[in-house]
Amino acid sequence: MNEGIMNESIPVLMYHSVSENPTAATRRLSVDPGALDRQVTFLAQNGYTGLTFSHLADALVNGKPLPEKPVVLTFDDGYADFAQVAWPILRSHDFPATVFVTSGWIDDAGSHAAGHPLGPMLNWAQVRELAAAGVEIGAHSHSHAQLDQCADAALCEELRIGRILLEDCVGTPVRSLAYPFGYSTPRVRVAARAAGYRCAASVRNIRATASGDPFMIPRLTIRRSTDDNDFASIMSGDKRFYLRDRVLTAGYATVRGARRAGKRVVQHG
Ligand SMILES: [Zn+2]
Repeated sequence: MNEGIMNESIPVLMYHSVSENPTAATRRLSVDPGALDRQVTFLAQNGYTGLTFSHLADALVNGKPLPEKPVVLTFDDGYADFAQVAWPILRSHDFPATVFVTSGWIDDAGSHAAGHPLGPMLNWAQVRELAAAGVEIGAHSHSHAQLDQCADAALCEELRIGRILLEDCVGTPVRSLAYPFGYSTPRVRVAARAAGYRCAASVRNIRATASGDPFMIPRLTIRRSTDDNDFASIMSGDKRFYLRDRVLTAGYATVRGARRAGKRVVQHG
């Protein structure tokens, strides 16, 4: 593997809703459209090259060369404002994106509806249009289940249905996955591979490296509270902003592990 790539760490940014008026449920993890515009302007002005998530994963796994200063912008859940607000901003700066869509949350999911969407969601026609415009469509489970809490059969279905419905819509293979809540276990990662995915995104608030597991590519959380100085610090590799998150994530993993040990099978969604 190329040593230059091995030594490189790549920021993979995680966004959710991009809205001036987010719902109460999406507010904390949403960003204001003006903030996204300033962030993408910063990336463009500082020589970053945008990649899709699968492009990065493929390069990391196969040791392919990456452009200088690569960055990946990902958007979870499939909010309608991605099409209305975020994509026009990204496109104006010529930056690609990956949207991880929860298939059961799609606005016109009809008989496939599952789970509880947190805000207005994309419809199938918009997902198709975005894919045709070059946006990578990845999966985010079918009902936004806590995958580690699903029994084996339900886990397989969450992963399989999510992929099949998206593939039926966009007409091309869907090989990227983001774990709902950013959390996975070895069992979930084995199931993701078996369900046909090639790579998956987690949330660990560290940068991605070639030596990491392609089924645990870490992402950096961008929030409404991330101001322009914070964003510049995050892109410079300053770890300060995420120390608290990492402590919280570690604590959460312990709680989840205990919960699963105490009650072996819990089904959600
Ligand atoms: Zn999500």
